[in-house]
Amino acid sequence: MRNSILTIVAIISVATCPVFAQEGKTTIVESANQNTSYYDVPDFPQKFSRRKPKNVILMIGDGMGVAQVYAGMTANKGNLFLNNFRHAGFSRTSSANRYTTDSAAGGTAIASGNKTNNSSIGVDRDNKPVPSIMEIAAANGLGTGIVVTTNVLDATPAAFVAHVPNRNMMPEIAIDFAETGPDVFIGGGIEYFNDRKDGRNLLAELSSKGYQVCDTITELVKVRSGKLAALLHEKRVAGRGDQLQVTTEVAIDILDDHKKGFFLMVEGSEIDGGGHDNDMAYTIEEMLDFDRAVGKALEFAARNRRTLVVVTADHETGGLTLVNGDIGKGMVTGRFSTTGHTGIMVPVFAYGPGAEQFGGIDENTSFFNKFIKLLKLNK
Ligand code: MG
Ligand code: ZN
Repeated sequence: MRNSILTIVAIISVATCPVFAQEGKTTIVESANQNTSYYDVPDFPQKFSRRKPKNVILMIGDGMGVAQVYAGMTANKGNLFLNNFRHAGFSRTSSANRYTTDSAAGGTAIASGNKTNNSSIGVDRDNKPVPSIMEIAAANGLGTGIVVTTNVLDATPAAFVAHVPNRNMMPEIAIDFAETGPDVFIGGGIEYFNDRKDGRNLLAELSSKGYQVCDTITELVKVRSGKLAALLHEKRVAGRGDQLQVTTEVAIDILDDHKKGFFLMVEGSEIDGGGHDNDMAYTIEEMLDFDRAVGKALEFAARNRRTLVVVTADHETGGLTLVNGDIGKGMVTGRFSTTGHTGIMVPVFAYGPGAEQFGGIDENTSFFNKFIKLLKLNK
């Protein structure tokens, strides 16, 4: 109740503030969480192939700033799979037209190396399509995949596949997935594929192109090779269980068949939701869920030794500050200062061959060129 009253106050203050919204004055919301399901984190080996990476697993925590990471770390009594990453840096997230980006411009910058306007997907600021790292990887013969907890047509995954001026153009984004999508994609949004105004059945089109199409975890875990379009139902972690970990493992297992390597993007989509809701329990459950998926990528990368794992965020959400905590008890109290995104730098973590390239401070557009170079892709 307190949250919603403060949210209303915040909206009014943003609407009436003439220059810059000073949301911090009115929207400070305190929220605490005591985690009760802790997990152990092993130490992963730090020995990799001396050759360039063959595979890249890019993991994006939507809305994951340093405070979200440390909230998760505190809640899990100091342990995160992220603790295994020896190379870390910061990504500057501003978009072409805003200090504070949205996931569309943030995703497009990471995917294509181009700063674009907020709401734009896979196009530059003149609405000209720009190729994504995933499309370039596919053209170079690598396997490609997307695993998310939200709708696959949502801004972050769409930025790797689609080229539309506005993130709300879901029916058009679905066509791009059906016509030029990655080899494996797993997430929500089935209604945009099979319940369409234009009468097309994109699930049937995917099947006829050789995709194995399914809508349950039970079916998708049976898929071990080939192409996969799995359109599941979106829920919060309590209803999803270990879906992100399982689907990350399935995608890696399928894509590892590609002799030239693969490029996989995994998104912890809903850390952002915890920030927008100013809800510590929601933030932490999504943060820890994402971290456990990072653990699955690490398990593979540690065995494979030619896989680079990069973990970052598109932006921070909620303006989260940690004001109190107890690592021994897995308890943490945070204060949110906005129900929107913020403009601060976000963390970058890297593990595997080429990881040293990701230290320091760089623009969010830098990922693209680093991946192109490390994977030796022809643009
Ligand atoms: Mg997202
Ligand atoms: Zn958001």
